[in-house]
Amino acid sequence: MDLNKVYHKIDNLRNQIKKYNEAYYEKDAPLIDDAAFDRIYRELKELEEKYPEYKKEEKITDKVSGKSSKKFSEHQHKYRLYSLDNSNNIDELCKWIEKVKKDLGEKSKVSFVCELKIDGLACALTYKNGVLETGATRGDGFIGENITKNLLTLNDIPQKLSKQLDIDVRGEVYMPVSSFEKLNEIQALNNEKPFANPRNAASGSLRQLDYEITKKRNLKFFAYAAIFESKVSIKTHFETMKLLKELGFDVNQNIKLCHNVDEIIEFCKYWENERFKLDYATDGIVVKVNELNYEDELGYTSRAPKWATAYKFPPEEVWTQLLDIEYNIGKTGAITPVAVMKPVSLGGTIVKRASLHNFDEIKRLDLSLGDKVLIKKAAEIIPKVIKVDHTKDAIPIELPQKCPDCSSNLFKPPNEVNFYCINVFCPSQIVSKLEFFASKSGMDIDGMGSQIVNKLYNLGLVKTYDDFYKLKYDDLLKLDLVKEKTATNLLNAINKSKNTTLAKFLTALSIKHVGKETASIIASEFKTIDEIIKTSYIDFAKIPGIGEKIAKSLYDWFNDDINLTIVKNMIQYGVTFEESKITNVSKKLENKTFVITGTLSQKRSFYEEKIKENGGKVVSQVSKNTTYLLCGDNPGSKYDKALNLHVIILNEDDFKKLLE
Ligand code: NAD
Repeated sequence: MDLNKVYHKIDNLRNQIKKYNEAYYEKDAPLIDDAAFDRIYRELKELEEKYPEYKKEEKITDKVSGKSSKKFSEHQHKYRLYSLDNSNNIDELCKWIEKVKKDLGEKSKVSFVCELKIDGLACALTYKNGVLETGATRGDGFIGENITKNLLTLNDIPQKLSKQLDIDVRGEVYMPVSSFEKLNEIQALNNEKPFANPRNAASGSLRQLDYEITKKRNLKFFAYAAIFESKVSIKTHFETMKLLKELGFDVNQNIKLCHNVDEIIEFCKYWENERFKLDYATDGIVVKVNELNYEDELGYTSRAPKWATAYKFPPEEVWTQLLDIEYNIGKTGAITPVAVMKPVSLGGTIVKRASLHNFDEIKRLDLSLGDKVLIKKAAEIIPKVIKVDHTKDAIPIELPQKCPDCSSNLFKPPNEVNFYCINVFCPSQIVSKLEFFASKSGMDIDGMGSQIVNKLYNLGLVKTYDDFYKLKYDDLLKLDLVKEKTATNLLNAINKSKNTTLAKFLTALSIKHVGKETASIIASEFKTIDEIIKTSYIDFAKIPGIGEKIAKSLYDWFNDDINLTIVKNMIQYGVTFEESKITNVSKKLENKTFVITGTLSQKRSFYEEKIKENGGKVVSQVSKNTTYLLCGDNPGSKYDKALNLHVIILNEDDFKKLLE
């Protein structure tokens, strides 16, 4: 491969890992699931090992990931905390065992301890004379966050040990799956974002400034290692675990001392299936050399001990049963079939539904009601049906002839897989539009989630966009999920949303073919909403990036009396548009039209802004009028189209050079 491409790939993967690490460790809100993260990490590790000369100082796969938040005081660990290297399958695990034996010399007798790898967050507890002095998170392994008060709210963490020892205890804080499910129910009721999994819930709950919140979250702690400063006659890890129990810690009982490979494999295989019966999440087995004197002999890499490995369970798949098909009617009227399944636990959450995307997918899977279905989580934490096992009495799924909500006719445009409800007054379509209007991508009314929008619609309080701005405190209290504080918060959020930009407002209106990118093109052409209202179809079509289809859709929408009244009402209720925040930095890209595709190292909005700041335009489709295609990894069909039309294709470095 061309070296520039390799370097570009390394930069790109490093940026992705940084972004995912930040979301996972600092915000407790992962953007992708662990298996997907591990794949990217492995790809980077291989490239960093193959091309060690490239930006050595930025190498990240040899460090312990994790950063301390500024909200807590820093704690410098006296003894460094490490991560663990992974064995991704039994073969890799066997190779690791062989290597340990080889490194220790064939004559050495070595045994191993197998333990469950608890999916929580690592903490270090320092005891002096048997009394807890500090408790801290792992952080980057050298410096963690001092969260002593929070840790003391956990019943499993003794303030005083049964012996007066100087000892550093390491273990995992975790949240039982049952507590995690309850917590997410409460989050949903309070219109707060649910936690993705018990690990993130544990981390988010523990790292609270107000430790009273931590106290309510039912966190638990398993101790799994110790460093003794006081003299103790302990020679093995297994004995350490026994002593930790005697000292007053909870030590996971699913632990085994193994003397050969077969015993280790048996333990791993056993827990691969049995783990689902536990009330805590485990993502693998930690295999540790038992004899403590071998630890120094084997040593450490820059991020992990060589005397331990984490055998990671394969991504979870689970069988359940298809009970029903529900239909989701989107804001465009597109009908998406959703599989309703017998609830099962998958990857730490209870899964009841999975999108089937479209009716072709039902045919492809040859799916019938009552069939057994194998589900797994696709890269973005989304459950997906991957296999079907037919059941004798299964009932064929009939494709709906009419809209499942309003019984209007359905329409399937040629070359599309989706069916659409033709009725623009279809209640489900209206609710989807209202939900989108209030969402982050629309007017960003904080807290106005789908449950509340649905209730407001059903009570007749919000039927059109402008109704959000007519809502009163007492109206909101009519909703059973809304109490005084939530009502006040919602009213404040509604008020705040009135200050918006023309681009956001146009996006929020769900005009057919007008997404975020098109809305921002329109917003950069016109100064006011009045100008847009008065624009003719021909003038819309003249704007670069706006084809005839979009021009017609815009013109039709703004020529409808009902739509105009809604827009005018909103302005009357105080919706105002800020001048676009984009300040012109240069005219370098004037008259240049860009299309962006593929995965880039930064969010798309970053490049859009850069292009606009320098006088360029961003459009969504490649055409002969496109000047450049800015192309990241894994580009889609836009790349092929750009090649066919001889559009200049830029990578990120080319783009940077263009701006220099
Ligand atoms: P790790 O979680 O893979 O392994 C090290 C940790 O295992 C230790 O720090 C310790 O906390 C824990 N552990 C649990 N039980 C243990 C036991 N019995 N004995 C010893 N240690 C035990 O390593 P990491 O560096 O913390 O995180 C890397 C992993 O985190 C990745 O493999 C990935 O799966 C996940 N991650 C995911 C994302 C994402 O976006 N989904 C982002 C970053 C990291």
